[in-house]
Amino acid sequence: MGEAPSQSVETDPPQRTPVENVVIIGSGPAGYTAAIYAARANLNPLLITGFQAGGIPGGQLMTTTHVENYPGFPDGILGPELMDRMKSQSVRWGTHLVEADAERVDLSVRPFRIHTSEAQTIEAHTLILATGASANRLHLPQEERFWSRGISACAICDGATPQFRREELAVVGGGDSACEEAVYLTKYGSHVHLIVRSDRLRASAAMADRVLANPAISVHWNRELVDVAGGGAAGGADWLGSIILRDRSGGGTENLPVRGLFYAIGHTPNTSLLQGQIPLDERGYLVTRPGRPETELDGVFAAGDVADAEWRQGITAAASGCQAALAAERWLSHHGLAVTVRREEVEPAPAGEPVRTLESDAGNYNPEALWQKGAYALRKLYHDSPKPLLVVYTSPSCGPCHVLKPQLKRVLQELKGRAQGVEIDIEADPEIALQAGVSGTPTVQLFFAKEMKQQWRGVKQRREFRDAIEALPPQA
Ligand code: NDP
Repeated sequence: MGEAPSQSVETDPPQRTPVENVVIIGSGPAGYTAAIYAARANLNPLLITGFQAGGIPGGQLMTTTHVENYPGFPDGILGPELMDRMKSQSVRWGTHLVEADAERVDLSVRPFRIHTSEAQTIEAHTLILATGASANRLHLPQEERFWSRGISACAICDGATPQFRREELAVVGGGDSACEEAVYLTKYGSHVHLIVRSDRLRASAAMADRVLANPAISVHWNRELVDVAGGGAAGGADWLGSIILRDRSGGGTENLPVRGLFYAIGHTPNTSLLQGQIPLDERGYLVTRPGRPETELDGVFAAGDVADAEWRQGITAAASGCQAALAAERWLSHHGLAVTVRREEVEPAPAGEPVRTLESDAGNYNPEALWQKGAYALRKLYHDSPKPLLVVYTSPSCGPCHVLKPQLKRVLQELKGRAQGVEIDIEADPEIALQAGVSGTPTVQLFFAKEMKQQWRGVKQRREFRDAIEALPPQA
């Protein structure tokens, strides 16, 4: 599996009107497709990508590997790369991206008001809700203790962690995600146990066949996970050692020794933002007119998994994003509210090709470079550079890493050489990851004067890194 290269797309903020024509919340296939259609209708759309609420920018495809059923890619495409392409396409046609969470919406007034985590208040005539859904957790009694110490909700992000190498691992669930993750984990673990609560897999036949034919996977039917237990240190930390299973067909409980446990038990729609503002169904999904994007509130449209408990595919989300944008366009024209922009150029400039960072070695290492890759650069910078050093630990198919890297590069650019960055692929350099106590990706460590000053796990806002670097004393 290759790494999805990072796409660097920068836009000059176009002139904004006091009230936006259309604001899209969410940056999965539904959000970006809505943006592409709205932008090509010259509606100058604004898209709030989301940041931490409800997963990561790019949505659930950022945490998958190969997407093999999205039309147009006969050999499949990596989820993060597909999302990069959609993002570039929406930006190329003039979408304005706001990299923040929508924290509060007021749909009781017109224009609608959206408050972001960057303290902005945005007003909009129409709103497209494409906030998606988030991975469920089991909330076992000991779950918190072993979260990121053996338990993960993303096999694709964390599977390459050294603590899982050649160990027994478990996946809970019986859907496509569980099957995909079980197969993926056979690359790293010595054996994978798939824990299924019923006597059948819900996954598609092709995916189920792959699991059932794989000798490195054992399926445990009719088993319920009741708790987890520790098993001593791994990488210097208290680590998961076993899971406790109850036989639902009446056979008592058993202890299964595993060092990794991955949840793949479905999703919950990201609608907490909308509670009390707009009708939701009993499971929290947005209520729409059957087969249509209109919600119960005039001028508010839904797209993707936030209103879809049934199909939940990248392609169905994209299609509903298209419907939502077309419906919003019609709504704006019907009410005479659309303020369209005139394009400077009929054909926008090409989106450009992704840029890859090469692994540094004695030949190409540059002591002044803002961003380098690999163990050689890490050693040299750690020992020789007087500047603060951000080390980001990534793995090749980790979507959140893919989101975070351009953010870190931007921080370093904004700091104009005051600090440097280096990327370590934990699959290529597992010993470094083990020494550094990395238990999942992305992990970022900030070093100064050969001391670790701070560590972050997962995707964080740019300002957290910038503030931490700026708080360090001036260099010697
Ligand atoms: P699903 O809802 O399809 O499956 C969830 C699974 O988790 C089910 O097997 C369910 O069991 C099980 N489950 C739910 N709650 C619990 C619990 N508390 N304890 C134990 N097991 C539990 O979710 P997925 O994330 O797998 O898939 C979502 C959508 O994304 C689907 O439409 C799927 O087709 C698609 N997808 C497609 C992929 C691809 O094509 N490459 C890859 C991944 C997902 P039960 O069956 O008993 O209800």
